[in-house]
Amino acid sequence: MKCFDVAVIGAGVVGSLLARELTKYELSVALIEAREDVATGATSANSAIAHGGFDPVPGTLKAKLNVRGTQMMPALTKELGVPYRANGSLVLAFSEDDMVSVRALYERGLQNGVDGLSVLNAEELHELEPNVSDEAVGALRCTSAGIVCPYTLATAAAGNAVDNGAELFLSSPVTAIDKKDGIFCIRAGKQVLHAKYVANCAGIFSDEIARMVGDDSFCVKPRIGEYMLMDKSEGNLVSHTLFQVPSKMGKGILVTPTVHGNLLVGPTALNTEDKQDDATTREGLEFVKKAATRSVACLNFRTVITSFAGVRSVPNEEDFIIRFSKWDNHFLHVAGIESPGLSASPAIAQYAAELLANEGLNLTENKQFNGSRKSYHWFSELSMEEKNKVIAENPAFGRVVCRCETVTEGEIVEAIHRAPKAMTLDALKHRLRSGMGRCQGGFCTPLLTEILARELGIDQTEVRKNTEHSTLLVGRAKEVQQ
Ligand SMILES: Cc1cc2nc3c(=O)[nH]c(=O)nc-3n(C[C@H](O)[C@H](O)[C@H](O)COP(=O)(O)OP(=O)(O)OC[C@H]3O[C@@H](n4cnc5c(N)ncnc54)[C@H](O)[C@@H]3O)c2cc1C
Repeated sequence: MKCFDVAVIGAGVVGSLLARELTKYELSVALIEAREDVATGATSANSAIAHGGFDPVPGTLKAKLNVRGTQMMPALTKELGVPYRANGSLVLAFSEDDMVSVRALYERGLQNGVDGLSVLNAEELHELEPNVSDEAVGALRCTSAGIVCPYTLATAAAGNAVDNGAELFLSSPVTAIDKKDGIFCIRAGKQVLHAKYVANCAGIFSDEIARMVGDDSFCVKPRIGEYMLMDKSEGNLVSHTLFQVPSKMGKGILVTPTVHGNLLVGPTALNTEDKQDDATTREGLEFVKKAATRSVACLNFRTVITSFAGVRSVPNEEDFIIRFSKWDNHFLHVAGIESPGLSASPAIAQYAAELLANEGLNLTENKQFNGSRKSYHWFSELSMEEKNKVIAENPAFGRVVCRCETVTEGEIVEAIHRAPKAMTLDALKHRLRSGMGRCQGGFCTPLLTEILARELGIDQTEVRKNTEHSTLLVGRAKEVQQ
């Protein structure tokens, strides 16, 4: 019976970075994920901002880990080949009352140790961002904030953990946890895994994982956030991430460029009951339009190419819940990781590893650890001369499959075979952006389906968008008609 040193439950950005962090030491690590791929929860649908850290209450874990995580982000993303841009953020004020809030955020930011803060007047603001609405009277500027690709970060982290010896168990929902002779027995899908320590990084379901060891000390509620994504034609409308003054429900509606050159507006903040409900609504999107137009009056909503929603994990406590269960000091909760969880994630991973070490986990350095990873987009980063050389060796790199995002067959084949293997259309989309452009997969889906089927050795009718029952094709037209 193999017994892992640590089992990490949930391969979102938090669990994936924690698994990677643990592989820096001589430890056996299992990363257990319910879904068919990593990064399908909150990590797959959020604003993708590395927040400066002026918003969380000073002294909280949120404040400390946000500031540290965002500081770590440039080096970490470079190491893992993940898109990141230090574009800076602005909190816009539309009245003198808002300016009072902006100054309070500035003071709070200084207390939290945030770098690059300044308060701008109307003239300075409009000079910096000419397309910001004339109604804006000033802003809080934060030059240490950035934008990142969240799902590529999680995927690269999980992949790098696997490169360094971690075992990834996909399609393995944890349904029961027992403990015998000091060892956890974790039922995960069809298998039972054993581990000395468990880290509960199950996002919106982390309270349900806690209940499996008899711990009902916290609960996590869903809060939905709806977005609209605009075409790359709008990507340069603003260069900073534009917030409005935050409220109790969150950071308000933002307008931001993405690392891939699109423009993102949203999210709403609506408490719901269904943890799996990520549908957009007409009312939600109308609200986003109205609120975003307040920040940038000239937004052109005809350029919207898709809309989507993400589900926040809102805990019944004010701070991130990163502590051992009262019932078991080898069972660590890394739960209630709402915003700024993405920003904080690199620091959360380090902090969680430190907590595990305090409870006896032996952190002996793994001298073989290699933290670097080749970008999924390495081919497009080459010069024309280098590209021609690669194509001469492998003509698949000369065949463009997704025209909107310029994704080649060579990159697709590589993503299918590289850990964590992309086995669905969405998995390819998250790694390479195939199907994420203006046509939203209209042209490339048949080709992607063909390549997936060929490389996985399955029939095209078995190729899935994401979950078990999400196949696209039912058979050949002639056969179906009969
Ligand atoms: C609308 C919205 C906007 C946001 N904007 C930002 C932002 O701009 N900046 C920022 O810093 N943060 C932001 N956040 C927060 C950020 O997205 C989260 O903090 C972060 O993604 C949390 O990562 P996670 O790994 O904890 O959770 P998740 O990504 O949800 O991962 C949890 C994983 O656990 C798996 N799981 C669940 N149950 C089980 C089980 N029984 N067995 C095995 N696996 C299981 C899930 O399938 C999932 O993959 C936003 C969040 C939302 C929803």
